[in-house]
Amino acid sequence: ETIGADLDRTVARFPDRDALVEYATGRRWTYREFVADVDALALGLLDAGLGKGDRIGIWAPNRAEWTLIQYASAKIGAILVNINPSYRVHELEFVLNQSGIRMLVSAQRFKTSDYVAMVEQVRPQCPALEQVVFLDDPAWESLLRQDGDRQRLIGVQAELSADEAINIQYTSGTTGFPKGATLSHHNILNNGFFVGELCGYTEVDRVAIVPPFYHCFGMVMGNLACTSHGSAMVIPSEGFDPAAALSAVAAERCTSLYGVPTMFIAELGLPDFDGYDLSSLRTGIMAGSPCPAEVMKQVIDRMGMSEVAICYGMTETSPVSTQTRADDSLERRVSTVGRVGPHLEVKIVDPSTGLTVPVGEPGELCTRGYSVMLGYWQQPDKTAEVVDTARWMHTGDLAEMDSSGYVSITGRIKDMIIRGGENLYPREIEEFLYTHPDILDAQVIGVPDARYGEELMAWVRLREGAEELTAEALREFCSDRLAHHKIPRYVHVVDEFPMTVTGKVRKVEMREQAKKLLG
Ligand code: ATP
Ligand code: MG
Repeated sequence: ETIGADLDRTVARFPDRDALVEYATGRRWTYREFVADVDALALGLLDAGLGKGDRIGIWAPNRAEWTLIQYASAKIGAILVNINPSYRVHELEFVLNQSGIRMLVSAQRFKTSDYVAMVEQVRPQCPALEQVVFLDDPAWESLLRQDGDRQRLIGVQAELSADEAINIQYTSGTTGFPKGATLSHHNILNNGFFVGELCGYTEVDRVAIVPPFYHCFGMVMGNLACTSHGSAMVIPSEGFDPAAALSAVAAERCTSLYGVPTMFIAELGLPDFDGYDLSSLRTGIMAGSPCPAEVMKQVIDRMGMSEVAICYGMTETSPVSTQTRADDSLERRVSTVGRVGPHLEVKIVDPSTGLTVPVGEPGELCTRGYSVMLGYWQQPDKTAEVVDTARWMHTGDLAEMDSSGYVSITGRIKDMIIRGGENLYPREIEEFLYTHPDILDAQVIGVPDARYGEELMAWVRLREGAEELTAEALREFCSDRLAHHKIPRYVHVVDEFPMTVTGKVRKVEMREQAKKLLG
């Protein structure tokens, strides 16, 4: 089924239920009102000369218009390209040209970023970019025309196939340059539907969508999970604001709240936390990175999210592959990322042989099923490196699976270090380094070494007031508690690690800098 057809079916079932609420402005749409605006916008896009396969870029924080354009572009079979709100001119130009965006819909500004100035700056270098429409501008209002020919839209919708590309989402760029994962209706609509189904969503659910829409966490696990079950999408604020998130939950009686672990930590840490009425919360999703046990416990006990789920996935798989279930124990919701989702397969293989490893052994996680992307946009060679001929997606993540099918993520293959023929997992060493009283944060990488192939280097951020930490002192600290081959040879003290805009540490860049440091 296409996203447009699925939305039309939900509208027919629940016309008067809330579809979308923008808490900051008080704007709200029932499903009947929502589809009226979506259809008006879809007709406006057709009139502007856009159609099947054309790329439409959206560059804006979480606002109602983001959601309207998501569904309008799906209804005409255009390919929506999600642009990260934190991008700067260099990244903006790359994305516009790599995906060949014909129309860019953009906010005018977000936080301290002047989008209008940045768009004008890159425009001469982007030959494919024919039209730019800024939100809050008359051009946007005229796109939302109310007098179009609805029969025309019905005809266009009837020509679409659910297997066609509908969306390009760029990966975070943690391990290299971002790649444009190209996804179909079938990929993301099914993923949203099954994520929502495992959360038990129905038309009475109201979901506070805190993560950004440009990311699949917001647009698939949030928006598509809601519209495929008749639930309400609630937007607390444009960018993350912990107080707005909890106020929106209280005012809109939300039943579900989303975030990465650091967002929940910020919400739980609000000085007036006890003043928010969160009694409507039943469930929610935490994803993107591992969740500390204490945070999970507080989310359940203090926020009342007894059914909260952990999800694991990646942009290339629409995104979710594994998810914990409402009845999983606290221990499993902390130490694992749950079990494989409906109609998907997961296996753990030895990356050197490609064979499935015995239960409980580490290896590379591979996923197969409806969720695997069509490919990286115009990069067939890169696609072939990760999707094999049997359509298994090789995730590049290291994982273990127990005999009941619960999966634990232990790191990334690209970050694995091979020292003297022995595989070393940075995460294990990093967790040990955290126990040092002066260390605030630690990252371990491999650096080239003539004798062992690779040697270990620790990058550390020290606590305020801590004295300088030498390699000798750190090795001494490790000496009788870590096997000698796991003890870092080099130590590099820094203020910050190189990070992606999605908040992940870029070890590729650390490795490059380390090579220079070691001369
Ligand atoms: P790039 O592919 O450009 O290097 P990226 O892999 O960080 O960047 P995303 O697709 O946004 O880009 O992130 C997917 C990755 O995030 C997964 O491959 C995995 O390493 C990590 N991840 C996702 N969910 C979890 C989770 N619940 N626990 C631990 N790690 C997770
Ligand atoms: Mg990746």
